[in-house]
Amino acid sequence: MPLVSGHDIIADCTSRGLVAGAFNTTNIETTMGIVEAVERTGIPTFIQCAPTNAALSGFEYIHDMVSRRLATCPVPVALHLDHGKNLRAVEDALAARFTSVMIDASEEPYEQNVATSAKAREIAGPDVAVEAELGAIGGKEDEIGPDEASGTDPAQVADFVDRTGCDMLAVSVGNVHGYAPDARIDFDLLADVHAQSSVPLVIHGGSGLPAEQFGRLHEYGVVKVNIASDLRNAMIRSFGEAYVANPHEHSLIKVSRASVAAIADVVERRIRQFNPGAA
Ligand SMILES: [Zn+2]
Repeated sequence: MPLVSGHDIIADCTSRGLVAGAFNTTNIETTMGIVEAVERTGIPTFIQCAPTNAALSGFEYIHDMVSRRLATCPVPVALHLDHGKNLRAVEDALAARFTSVMIDASEEPYEQNVATSAKAREIAGPDVAVEAELGAIGGKEDEIGPDEASGTDPAQVADFVDRTGCDMLAVSVGNVHGYAPDARIDFDLLADVHAQSSVPLVIHGGSGLPAEQFGRLHEYGVVKVNIASDLRNAMIRSFGEAYVANPHEHSLIKVSRASVAAIADVVERRIRQFNPGAA
């Protein structure tokens, strides 16, 4: 089916008690692996791309590749801009017909974050969902990430959501980008944030969190969990293992297919961890 709006994924998951995975794509192997797992599980999903992910190709290329693969996929998928750090990135993703965008002005002072996020909400238009971030999520991924992490302040949440009009709120509640061995969700803080938020929450840095923390996230208003490092690791490891096994391997297609399978397995496992009762 064609790409659906991020609004549809949010509404579908919220009404069914589901948590959507949001998986970063960079290339055709990653895209095919993600969609294969989505078809296996039947759970609505975000495929996402940060400006850094598109450095080799561009948003139009990513849009066309993802759309083409989804033409035969019966499960709803939205194409989301991950970590748009400024309005220009949001405009570029909208021009490439992304159906959901993130504006990440979380490193700016509070009032500036509000103003930039509200502006993103305005330019996105009614058909595109907007994720904004309050509190800076630590760790770095493709150089994305603040110099210093700061937790989301529950006292700011209601005001921020109200004034920005965002549709999803990315929170910093102990989650960290990349593989951080000590990353843990602080469920007390997450509950406090959830109590103050009229919109669903987003957890970044899913690859580094313990799997046992995923099963009850929908009870805390979480609608989306981002996974990027897992997919890169699966692809790079798959190619590396193929080379080590046979430095004279000549079938690139064989090795590419193995990486698609490795990525699909990682994505399927994550989707099922997020939705233990459904998938
Ligand atoms: Zn992130």
